[in-house]
Amino acid sequence: MERLFQSSMDEVDRLVGLDDEEKQLLQDADAAADELLVSEFEKYVERKYNPEIANVLRRHNLMGVPIDKEHGGRGARQLVEALFLERMGQTGMGVITLADVHMCLGSLAVQDWGNEEQKARYLPAAAKGDVLFAYGLTEPEAGSDPGSLKTSYARDGDGFRLSGSKYLISNGSVATNMLVFARPEGAARGVTAFLVDTKQEGFKVDMRLEEKMGLFTSDTSLISLDGAFVPREDVLGEEGKGLSVAYSALLNGRIGIASGCLGVMEDCLNQVRERVTSRVQHGKEIARHQLIQKHVAYIESSLEACRWLVYRAAMKKDEYEKSPGTLSVRTDGDRLSAVAKYVSSRCAFESADRAVQCFGGFGYSIMSPVAKHFLDSRVARIYEGTDEIMELKIASSVLGRGFEAYR
Ligand SMILES: Cc1cc2nc3c(=O)[nH]c(=O)nc-3n(C[C@H](O)[C@H](O)[C@H](O)COP(=O)(O)OP(=O)(O)OC[C@H]3O[C@@H](n4cnc5c(N)ncnc54)[C@H](O)[C@@H]3O)c2cc1C
Repeated sequence: MERLFQSSMDEVDRLVGLDDEEKQLLQDADAAADELLVSEFEKYVERKYNPEIANVLRRHNLMGVPIDKEHGGRGARQLVEALFLERMGQTGMGVITLADVHMCLGSLAVQDWGNEEQKARYLPAAAKGDVLFAYGLTEPEAGSDPGSLKTSYARDGDGFRLSGSKYLISNGSVATNMLVFARPEGAARGVTAFLVDTKQEGFKVDMRLEEKMGLFTSDTSLISLDGAFVPREDVLGEEGKGLSVAYSALLNGRIGIASGCLGVMEDCLNQVRERVTSRVQHGKEIARHQLIQKHVAYIESSLEACRWLVYRAAMKKDEYEKSPGTLSVRTDGDRLSAVAKYVSSRCAFESADRAVQCFGGFGYSIMSPVAKHFLDSRVARIYEGTDEIMELKIASSVLGRGFEAYR
C-alpha cells in the first residue's frame, strides 16, 4: 500500500513561499504519513484505536507543529500547519482527529491563553508528545449549545474540584491532560477553562465509545469528573471567560479539520484514478465511460476549490497572529474558518461517496480504502460545530450580530 499522490512541494512552494525548515516539516509529514498507512488500515479493519498515530508523530517530531520554537515546537505558521494536516489527511480522519485535538484545540489554547509559567510547563512536553491533550466541551446534554453545560466547579483550598460528565471526547482515554470547561457550582453563568490532569482518582474513563459508524482508529470516550482536583495555576485564561477559550480553540480546530478533509479528497482522487484506469467493463477501462469521468471531475474540482478556502482561512489566521486584538481580522478569521470547515467536510464526504461508487461492489467492502474515508469523513460534518451551526455562524457573519439565530 502506498500513497499515490502528494501535492508537489514545488507547486506548494510557488504558491505560498516555503523556507527550508517549512519544506523539511512537510517532508517529515510525508514520511510520517507513509509510515502510518499500514497500521491505520489494520486498526480500522480491527475497529481499534491506533496507538501508532501518536508514536509515529512523536518519532518524526510532529507533535508540536504549531507550538512556538521557544517552547520546543516547530513554530509553523497556520498556513504550513494546514499543509501539514492536508498531507496527514491522506491517511484518514482518525489521524487528523488526534493531531487536531492535541495541537489545534489543546496546545494552541495554552499558547494563546496561557501565562508564561503554563506555557513553560505544558508546551515543551506537548511538543515532545509527553503531554497529549483532549478537549472536553461536549456533555450528554450540551452539544451544539455549550453555554448550557452542567459540569461544575467549587473552590477547595488552593484550587478547585470539578464534577460532571464529558461526552464524545476524542483522545479521552489516552490523553495525559484534558482542557475542561465548567461553570461555578449553582451559577448560571461564568464558564471557566481548566487544564485537568487525567492521572488522578477524580478523573474516570466511564466508557470507550466503540460503537461508532467509523473513525475507529481514534479514541472517543465518555469521561466523568468526580471531584477532580485542579490547582489554581491550571486555570487557563481568566476565571469566567472559558467560553472565549473554547471558541477560539475551535476556530483553530476547524481549519485543522478542513485541512484534513483536503487530504481525504486527495486520497479519494488517487484511489479512484488507479481503480478506474485499470478496471475494465463493457470492453474498456471504466475511466473511458463519461459518467465515471463525472465523478472524477467532481472530486478534482472540490479539492481545488476547497484548497483555496482552507489556505485563505489559514492566511487570515496568520494575519491575526501578526496583529492580535484586531477585531475585524478576528471576525473574518472566524467566518473563513467556518466556511472552510463547512464546505470541505461536505465535499470530502461527497468525494468519498463518489469514490465508493467508482469502486462499485468492492467499494462497499470495508477492505476498500475508499470505504474507510466514507465512514470516517462523515464525522467532520458533526464535530467542532455541525453543518447547521456552521450555516448559522456564516449567515449571521453576513447579516450582522443582530441576526444570530442561535442566541
Ligand atoms: C467521533 C466524535 C468525536 C468528538 N470529539 C469531541 C471532542 O474531542 N471534544 C468535544 O468537546 N466534543 C467532541 N465531539 C462532540 C461534537 O462536537 C458534538 O457531537 C457536536 O457539537 C454536536 O453536538 P450533539 O452531538 O450534542 O448534537 P446536538 O447539539 O443535539 O444537535 C443535533 C442536531 O440538531 C442540530 N441543531 C442543534 N442546535 C441547532 C440550532 N440552534 N439550529 C439548527 N440546528 C441545530 C445540530 O446541527 C444537529 O444536526 C465529538 C463527536 C464525535 C461524533
